[in-house]
Amino acid sequence: MQVLKFGGTSVANAENIRKVSCIIQKAAKKEPVLAIVSALGGITDVLLQAARKAAQGTEDYKQLLEQAELRHLEVVKELIPVVKQSSSLSLVKKQFNEIDDICNGIFLLGELTERTTDKILSYGELISSQIISAALQANGIENAWKDSRDLIVTDSSFTHAVVDFSATNEKIQRYVAGKKSNVHILPGFIASDVNGITTTLGRGGSDYTAAIVAAAVNATALEIWTDVSGMMTADPRLVPNAKAISEISYQEAMELSHFGAKVLYPPTVQPVLATNIPVWIKNTFAAEDEGTLIKKQSLNNGNDIRGLSSISKIALLSLEGSGMVGIPGFSKRLFESLANAGINVILITQSSSEHSICVGIDDANAKKAKEVIDKAFAAEIKGGSIDPLTVEQDLAIVALIGDNMKNHPGISGKMFGALGRNGVNVRAIAQGSSERNISAVIASVDVKKAINVLHEEFFENTYKQVNVFLTGVGNVGSKLLAQLEQQQQYLQQHLRLQLKVVGMANSKKMLFNDDGIDLSTWQDSLEAGDSMELSKFIQNVKSKNLRNSVFADVTASAEVAATYDQLFEKSVSIVACNKVACSSPYQYYRKLKDLAREHNSVFLFETNVGAGLPVIGTLNDLLRSGDKVNKIQAVLSGTLNFVFNNYNGTRSFAQEVRQAQDEGYTEPDPRLDLGGTDVMRKIMILAREAGEQLEMEDISNNSFMPESCMKGDVEHFYKEMEKHEAHFKKIYEEAEAKQCKLNFVASYENGKAAVGLQHINAQHDFYHLYGKDNVVLFYTNRYVEQPLVVKGAGAGAEVTASGVFADIIRAARV
Ligand code: ADP
Ligand code: ASP
Ligand code: MG
Repeated sequence: MQVLKFGGTSVANAENIRKVSCIIQKAAKKEPVLAIVSALGGITDVLLQAARKAAQGTEDYKQLLEQAELRHLEVVKELIPVVKQSSSLSLVKKQFNEIDDICNGIFLLGELTERTTDKILSYGELISSQIISAALQANGIENAWKDSRDLIVTDSSFTHAVVDFSATNEKIQRYVAGKKSNVHILPGFIASDVNGITTTLGRGGSDYTAAIVAAAVNATALEIWTDVSGMMTADPRLVPNAKAISEISYQEAMELSHFGAKVLYPPTVQPVLATNIPVWIKNTFAAEDEGTLIKKQSLNNGNDIRGLSSISKIALLSLEGSGMVGIPGFSKRLFESLANAGINVILITQSSSEHSICVGIDDANAKKAKEVIDKAFAAEIKGGSIDPLTVEQDLAIVALIGDNMKNHPGISGKMFGALGRNGVNVRAIAQGSSERNISAVIASVDVKKAINVLHEEFFENTYKQVNVFLTGVGNVGSKLLAQLEQQQQYLQQHLRLQLKVVGMANSKKMLFNDDGIDLSTWQDSLEAGDSMELSKFIQNVKSKNLRNSVFADVTASAEVAATYDQLFEKSVSIVACNKVACSSPYQYYRKLKDLAREHNSVFLFETNVGAGLPVIGTLNDLLRSGDKVNKIQAVLSGTLNFVFNNYNGTRSFAQEVRQAQDEGYTEPDPRLDLGGTDVMRKIMILAREAGEQLEMEDISNNSFMPESCMKGDVEHFYKEMEKHEAHFKKIYEEAEAKQCKLNFVASYENGKAAVGLQHINAQHDFYHLYGKDNVVLFYTNRYVEQPLVVKGAGAGAEVTASGVFADIIRAARV
């Protein structure tokens, strides 16, 4: 004998029931089949809703029942040939008349008891199983229908009745012995107490019915047919990358289902475990998929973790106080008062100081728990030796499950490391002494992120998903997007990174897409996006709460820079091309660095100095390896270098500047480059990174720009430069006369920084700088006479974008 169970979605409509018939027919060719079926998908909920509405005195229940009846009639009409329909049609009508009568009674009384609830819910399975039996019969599959209430005996705990196994087993065995039919159809979920009153086994309980029957007949196998291809490494509704588990032990399956894996009703494993019956989880809609085999000992597939699960709507109770230490009996009283109130304990932790006990329970019982516990400890609370119970709500449990976790160190380290890096705060931790389960209590809002992070950590050595939010899609931003698009494949193959741009904005529009914005058409999508509001954009980044989030700031905006602190607080990493944050008052720069460290996020801004050149990274490497920077000399303005390299009096100075702006080397406001401010910011950032507490006011700037050029707007700036052409020409000729080049040099030594134009002779390291080159010389304890030199193109959209790209990858790989 084999037992097959078909869940709600498997029998939701005529089309699905046809699939079920095929599966039963095929199975029956091998061995007799006992098939247990659920109510049509969603019907149990509808019946419950109707009963509750009736009890509240709202007449809507009538409409709900009418629709439910229609749904059943449709199924009959579609499944059964017209000539054979009438008995099934009248069965549906008759049963719904009964449901109507009961609901009318509830409506009049204004009261819904658990006993009546069970009675009403039982119709779901009763009707579905009889329709399916008739449909099979009509299609030539001989079968016998049997009311499970005649077989399964329970106590009278309505809505979650407890099975009397000896009476039940005997009845099932007697039934099977007396019937020679090859196929039997039974309703799941329902049973009756010793007085013959209808009970149910708890929501989702048809799985349990099937296991009880399988154990009683010592079936060769139990097959649970559902809408997914097995028990998966995580809830597929939360984790799109979840995969079916091929083999799993009874204990692991039990643990996974107890901790929220809805695919299997938790008590199901118990009866089959005792009789060692193999259980298969199979997909009705992909019957050829292998599915999951649950058995005594699962295959060691090299992974210590078998699956992840989560339970939401948890409340955490904490009982604390000095009066608890070393005095026996406190926990007994605590758990006794919960048990007496019928409150189930899901998780327990106790600090080794015995100063506090934490208990996780179903959120729905939080209020009741507070009442009974405060009452139980009223005397101690009054005396001050124990604090009133604290209750935290809106929590959830995430759990890591696997038999092989035992004696394998490092798993919890990996678990909490991954959660911590993503800013998931852990409120309590429990590890069963079986070491088969490590559970963490976290905020409900973090569940999806946490489960995905853990899934990536333990199951996806294939790739890690990185979610990028980008502000600024101008010159550099659009180059960055093009590079990201081009490299997506490479990153996936070689670095195992799946980089998705999930949000982007320019100053006018913003766009979000959790699946990743298509980078080949982002311009059109952004154009069609919502109007940009920075506060909304940031709010979205925070509330989406995606794992491995990186915020890339490719604007030059002070407003955007002012939001970094909020993002770090949500453990979002930041890659800034924008120099405003790092060159803002030292205190904010320091605060940002501290916040990033505190929240395990990364703050990278390599492109703040020398565009894509590895300047800040090199400086950090020197310091990390114990070197000390004594002096920095640098040419840090691609714009100024470009201008002075090209200017020789044939074209006006203003024209050279204009060309630098047109080619995209300047800041959006070129006066920041020409006036030296941009270079000051850069040397200040280097000095700060070297450990100096420097402000802009501390830097001396020997500017070569006539003051009048720096007033008014950018057009005025160009006009004024034309007027002062003689001034610029003179500067050039003075240098030329000494066979020197002009360079705008930044230096830092002994805590002091300065910027200004200098004459550079042919012997100087800076003489051979071309185009928009930058160069940085680091004099350190180790590089004493010959400095460490970083040199190359220090401006331009393409190289800046590649620097931002490299920082994003660095942030992603942490
Ligand atoms: P049925 O109606 O067949 O009993 P259920 O809805 O009770 O089906 O259970 C199947 C559902 O369980 C799946 O559709 C899936 O969304 C959910 N689920 C949650 N966790 C898991 C998991 N770890 N593996 C597989 N499915 C899971
Ligand atoms: N129909 C019941 C429910 O929805 C039992 C089941 O489907 O397992 O809870
Ligand atoms: Mg189910």
